Amino acid sequence: MGYNIAIDGPAGAGKSTIAKQVAKKKGFIYVDTGAMYRGLALHFIRQGIQPEEREKIAFACQDVVIRIGYEDGIQQVYLNGDNVTSRLREEAVGNMASKSSAIPEVREKLLELQRNLAKEEDVVMDGRDIGTHVLPDADVKVYLTASVATRAKRRFAELTAKGEECDFDIIAADIAERDARDMNREIAPLKQAEDAVLIDSSDMTIEEVTDAILALCGR
Ligand code: C5P
Repeated sequence: MGYNIAIDGPAGAGKSTIAKQVAKKKGFIYVDTGAMYRGLALHFIRQGIQPEEREKIAFACQDVVIRIGYEDGIQQVYLNGDNVTSRLREEAVGNMASKSSAIPEVREKLLELQRNLAKEEDVVMDGRDIGTHVLPDADVKVYLTASVATRAKRRFAELTAKGEECDFDIIAADIAERDARDMNREIAPLKQAEDAVLIDSSDMTIEEVTDAILALCGR
């Protein structure tokens, strides 16, 4: 079993930024489980399936192959052998992933892949249910959160920096809606594991959060 650091929390809390920093400092592999859900979501979109078509989504899980690889230390997602990493941050993909991730067959499809990675390697894995469900025996568990307003501000700044037109209120409403879906679904809902350490990053820098997590690992 590798040394496992689980970081869970809502969308936009800074999980991936922090997890990458922690992984770099520790020399561990960063596993972005959201990207796996996004990879499957892209498959459903390519099949012409709508997010509400639960049965079609469950069926489409049967022979799809999602694989993870690393190029220069950066996670790549392969969908049926095709590297789809550059497509995963698209809005439509995120929207489909937020809905399709509530479907049991979708979660079942990715569980073993996630557990196997953690068994073989020292990992920092981020997601929604890592500490509660995927790696209940993780060595370190963190629940990383921030207020909706802070998360919306960060997202707004990110999109504006990329030159994309966006509306702060729409972003904030979308974040609140995704939180509600993640927290209220029946299987593996987003919640803080009993033995996870809560970190609210609203008034913390990336470095402060990273250091707080490294301190939990005893360096
Ligand atoms: O973190 P990210 O936004 O990339 O995740 C995409 C979607 O996948 C989320 O909206 C969430 O619903 C889902 N997800 C999940 N469980 C995980 C990781 C992501 O349900 N462990």
